[in-house]
Amino acid sequence: MGRAFDHDVIIAGGGLAGGLIALRLRAFRPSLDILLLEAGPVLGGVHTWSCFESDLTPEIRDWLHPMISHRWAGYSVRFPGYERRLTTPYLSIASSRFAEHVTKELGASIRLNAPVADLEANIAMLADGTTLTAPLVIDARGPRSGPLVLGWQKFLGQEVELAAPHDLAGPIVMDATVDQLDGYRFLYTLPLSPTRLLIEDTRYSDGEALDKDSLRADIAAYAAQQGWRIASLVREEDGVLPIALGGDIAAWWDRSGSAASVGLRAALFHPVTGYSLPDAARLADEIAALPRLDTGPVRAAVRQRSITSWEERGFYRLLNRMLFRACAPELRYRVLARFYRLRQPLIERFYAARAGLADKARILTGKPPVPIGAALRVMAESSVLKDLPR
Ligand SMILES: Cc1cc2nc3c(=O)[nH]c(=O)nc-3n(C[C@H](O)[C@H](O)[C@H](O)COP(=O)(O)OP(=O)(O)OC[C@H]3O[C@@H](n4cnc5c(N)ncnc54)[C@H](O)[C@@H]3O)c2cc1C
Repeated sequence: MGRAFDHDVIIAGGGLAGGLIALRLRAFRPSLDILLLEAGPVLGGVHTWSCFESDLTPEIRDWLHPMISHRWAGYSVRFPGYERRLTTPYLSIASSRFAEHVTKELGASIRLNAPVADLEANIAMLADGTTLTAPLVIDARGPRSGPLVLGWQKFLGQEVELAAPHDLAGPIVMDATVDQLDGYRFLYTLPLSPTRLLIEDTRYSDGEALDKDSLRADIAAYAAQQGWRIASLVREEDGVLPIALGGDIAAWWDRSGSAASVGLRAALFHPVTGYSLPDAARLADEIAALPRLDTGPVRAAVRQRSITSWEERGFYRLLNRMLFRACAPELRYRVLARFYRLRQPLIERFYAARAGLADKARILTGKPPVPIGAALRVMAESSVLKDLPR
């Protein structure tokens, strides 16, 4: 006689990865009884998830469409001595729009304010003592620490209403013409309406401490410098994202528990940007198409995807090590300034984690923007050899 379960699928964590998986399971297998457990009072928290349109396949763009809150036809970057406008479209998903859409599709399958205390392959134990069972238990509870070597991308963003319209045609994805504080520093600005901006102060730093008050002051100073008069602060978001420098992905999985980890918990993020939206969307489709929705085979499939992605993206970690280890913090901007002189299709492939051998060679050739001795030391580290272009 088969075991009786409370649900077909339990997803612990109603953030980006958990929400997208729930959506795709609902779309492909509408008869499944799914339970999405979120510790917080809303799905998705307070976020603006963005990516380049070229990071996504047309199919994924289609199903993300109802959640896309903004799309711009291009973006610009600024470095000391030059500004460049690129025509790659840029997209954002506001977490409020994400929460609305997931709620519309999943309805009663969502339980908010329901922190999970522990997970096993077929069991979710809630903090209130309830025990629930399912053949498939997914751990989508966000980042965890483990045996990966990380630097940090940390930032504070403020959505602000201006007293007068700004004159931005599109996002400024990097403005590195600012003082280089606490590592590689740039400002990131999304124009959300003629008078509304999301302004983020970002740093690629060795430490993960986030001094919110000084970031607030730096954003105010930047806005003043741009001639934007802030009338009111609408909301704030902040984050400390892992930037992978190296590490043992198999050991990471050995310590990942018996549920099927997904999202940042499965180390599925772009090594240079820390962004996980494209990976999360692709994984959601892959999971929904698996023939057997039991924890064992789903965990094995995600583990395989995670390890393959990690191995394919070794070159990006090499660049991270160049950025973090071969470069004095105040000179890190030079690496990005040089990168942004390259051709747009290469830049698109780079962000989509699809850089080919010729792209990698192109990125590494020419006069290095970092001291040559330090660059060679980073290249020669034995753990790094496997990350060289292949
Ligand atoms: C401020 C910020 C901005 C970012 N911007 C971008 C971006 O522009 N583009 C991009 O691609 N990436 C971005 N990222 C990186 C990454 O995509 C996000 O961190 C993304 O939210 C990670 O997805 P996730 O599902 O793994 O984790 P999360 O989205 O953090 O989801 C984890 C969820 O699990 C819940 N949870 C945690 N513990 C429990 C528990 N015990 N029980 C139940 N629920 C629990 C949390 O409340 C949360 O809702 C950003 C990250 C941050 C922090």
